[in-house]
Amino acid sequence: MKRHELVTKILNETAIKDRFIAYVKEDTQAVPGSETFPSSPKQKNLGKKLVDELERLGMQNVEMDENGYVYAKLPSNCGKKTRIAFIAHMDVAADCAGEGVNPQIHENYDGSAINLKNGIVISPEDSPHLKECIGDTVITSDGTTLLGADDKAGIAAIMSMVEYLNKHPEIQRPEIRVCFTPDEEIGRGVDFINIEKVDADFAYTLDGGFPYEVNYENFNAFSAVVKFKGISIHPGYAKDKMVNAIRYAGKFIDMLPKDMSPERTESREPFIHPINVSGGSEEVTVSMILRSFKLEDIEDEKKIILDAIEKVKAEEPKLNIEHEFKQSYLNMYEVLKDKMHIYKYVEKAIKDLGEEPNVVPIRGGTDGSRLSFMDLPCPNIFAGGVDFHSQKEWVALENIALASAVTIKIIENAE
Ligand SMILES: [Zn+2]
Repeated sequence: MKRHELVTKILNETAIKDRFIAYVKEDTQAVPGSETFPSSPKQKNLGKKLVDELERLGMQNVEMDENGYVYAKLPSNCGKKTRIAFIAHMDVAADCAGEGVNPQIHENYDGSAINLKNGIVISPEDSPHLKECIGDTVITSDGTTLLGADDKAGIAAIMSMVEYLNKHPEIQRPEIRVCFTPDEEIGRGVDFINIEKVDADFAYTLDGGFPYEVNYENFNAFSAVVKFKGISIHPGYAKDKMVNAIRYAGKFIDMLPKDMSPERTESREPFIHPINVSGGSEEVTVSMILRSFKLEDIEDEKKIILDAIEKVKAEEPKLNIEHEFKQSYLNMYEVLKDKMHIYKYVEKAIKDLGEEPNVVPIRGGTDGSRLSFMDLPCPNIFAGGVDFHSQKEWVALENIALASAVTIKIIENAE
């Protein structure tokens, strides 16, 4: 990849490489189902190190609170009025071993397959972005663990931005806030965030993949539970009396449109996804998740479910059917559509670096979507990593620097 001069400067003038290596070596794996917060106390070990580093870099109001959230502030050095926060998460996923990460540095990557322990191979055929990183410093694990670029690349990019701003007081900056969060990977990343301490007009998470990915849309997520209550009776004496809930639950599931399923949709297409069926002949509970980018589509999905319920009921009036819909999270675009200047800063920053943003809708949720509904509008920016949550995870150091460069350009362009 051709390299913008700002990226070269970040690589030369900051400790971006050493800090990324140090962060991934720190075990911060989240523990699904844990009763504590953070889900694993070891996440605070990285938190403490980040606090020390932020203090060394001259940030103010640096603290880690009892829940493991790290906050810091860099005051404006000019008359700019905006307050911008940059957020990344400290934990790594539990999908794959995360302890004892032994990062491998492939300097001046030559475009060939990378062979790691346990027969793990990262090849340009499986991971085509590798071809775009020939000549770069590609970093992988040794094949026995994940790497943790998700999201330690984001932390390294933000920290290096702070270091760079320190070395370049001539860059006129608004007030900057930094926040590092625990437990994103188990969906609890903003459960205990203190929005007053973040204290910004808007924020960016640096938790996306390859350059120049940007996300300002995510799924609207709802759940639906439908309970089929039949009539149970001794099967030997059941004629004209028994109502077997299993038969009607099966009919109901069969009526859900098969083309509107996760396995047959992509991009902005909505789906209804049955995730659990439980019960017996007397009572069956069917649980589903509903996903779409437009709220109108969620209403259509609810109608599909209600129509199917009506049809089943018409067939067997003695059957009792109850249903419940619940909202899980919403598309951050509902908030951001009226505040697109927040995205425009990212677009301008990437264009200033001579590139075009790759806007991708997220078929899932992000911490940024929850933050956006907590009065902190928050799109997501790439942090550089590829093939997250696996032994094949990799990142080019130059792409972490690129993420850092985007934040610096946002800061330069902010008003
Ligand atoms: Zn992440």
